[in-house]
Amino acid sequence: MKQVILTGDRPTGRLHVGHYVGSLKRRVDLQNSGKYDEIYIMVADAQALTDNAEHPEKVRQNIMQVALDYLACGIDPEKSTIFIQSMVPELTELTFYYMNLVTVARVQRNPTVKSEIQMRNFEASIPVGFFTYPISQAADITAFKADTVPVGEDQLPMIEQTREIVRKFNHIYGEDVLIEPKALLPDNQVCMRLPGIDGKAKMSKSLGNCIYLSDTAEDVQKKIMSMYTDPTHLKVTDPGHIEGNTVFTYLDAFCKPEHFEKYWNDYASLDEVKEHYQRGGLGDVKVKRFLNSIVNEELEPIRAKRKELEQDMGCLLYTSPSPRDQRGSR
Ligand code: ATP
Ligand code: MG
Repeated sequence: MKQVILTGDRPTGRLHVGHYVGSLKRRVDLQNSGKYDEIYIMVADAQALTDNAEHPEKVRQNIMQVALDYLACGIDPEKSTIFIQSMVPELTELTFYYMNLVTVARVQRNPTVKSEIQMRNFEASIPVGFFTYPISQAADITAFKADTVPVGEDQLPMIEQTREIVRKFNHIYGEDVLIEPKALLPDNQVCMRLPGIDGKAKMSKSLGNCIYLSDTAEDVQKKIMSMYTDPTHLKVTDPGHIEGNTVFTYLDAFCKPEHFEKYWNDYASLDEVKEHYQRGGLGDVKVKRFLNSIVNEELEPIRAKRKELEQDMGCLLYTSPSPRDQRGSR
């Protein structure tokens, strides 16, 4: 069986470090592993419209921003196919047919849909399109016969919903027509759902609590310095808590042993820093400075590559003939 990846992002804003540690970095590794026959990376503009119907310009503008972020992080168009969801109208057709295989009650039970409805204050007025987006996601994945979907934790219920649709479809219309996909989560637990700089459960474009991959070094520094830490750690001498402390969550996501020698040789490991912080006597500012050096080190090459690409936006506009063009006009 062919090894096929499908994954993607909604063009509701530029990509952030949550995307990077949760999915993007992994995609680049998988792409370069040479183990996959086909890799599809989708800019999910149609899905983005399900909660941004009144702001089509926002979605349109961010298509290019997301594409820039992909290329800047190392997605290589020679190895991976980047495409725009709305340019493959068959995905919408397939969604329409899949709608017959899912009950309203089942979508209502989907925990991600539930929490996203709450987050967007949609309780009283959910757009039907938004409500059904897990079904369209199933169409995206299965249309490409993807067996692997690298995602963050919030997408697990979507993959489960897709698997159910596949089973039902195959049962009714013929065994083995569709492939049951599996989610590929980050190995590092904290990367599955990176919190926002405000300490909220998830960094998300819609919550405005992000460090963007394209932020300048100064922006990143400002954001890290304002990061939510431990509200009970008022004086340097106070014992601090690391659970729920965003700075330490980010260190768990980004810190490597070599960073100590390079940026903070008072300590030999992250465990030593944590232990000192918990004991008392280590101030937030020092820890934040260390985090800032690490995050900026990781983002600097991405930023530089993005700048280079921005100088030549024309190179992004190269497209192979769309499936629509290849078939002639419809
Ligand atoms: P929106 O607020 O518009 O939904 P988002 O920030 O949640 O945007 P998506 O485009 O919905 O981003 O998500 C794209 C991919 O990135 C998904 O696989 C998702 O699991 C992953 N992802 C998004 N945010 C995070 C995060 N904070 N931590 C880990 N993975 C994340
Ligand atoms: Mg999202």
